[in-house]
Amino acid sequence: MHSSLLVSYRGASVMIDCGLDWLGKFERLHPDAIVLTHAHPDHAWGLKKGALCPVYASQKTWRGLEHCKIEDRQLIKERVPNKICGITFEAFAVEHSILAPAVGYRVSAGRASDERKLTAKLRAMATEPGLEARIAYDGMDLILR
Ligand SMILES: [Zn+2]
Repeated sequence: MHSSLLVSYRGASVMIDCGLDWLGKFERLHPDAIVLTHAHPDHAWGLKKGALCPVYASQKTWRGLEHCKIEDRQLIKERVPNKICGITFEAFAVEHSILAPAVGYRVSAGRASDERKLTAKLRAMATEPGLEARIAYDGMDLILR
């Protein structure tokens, strides 16, 4: 099964990435929103037939998903916190593919213990090669790419 992550906070669930293996299956998770990192098949093509919830992605990712029948397309701008279902997603560019530019997300909700320290730690982690997902602090702060 293609990698995906379901983030829940106070009864709302946001799915991060939805690869082709999820086509016809992700609906049973009833996500309130879907957030995409990039337009590669193993991260986004599970949405080829659309979704019943809003889908969030960067402009570069949307360019690669014109063939998907997604009706509610929401734009995520890099380095701007986006509150989705009470969960904050902040996108930042990562090196992955020239054809399908990718973003990682800083995901947070609730109280962040030491915001400044946490941000510095996450920025440092974002440069580590091969990092895919790591819980950073207590609560719900993590980094993905
Ligand atoms: Zn990829």
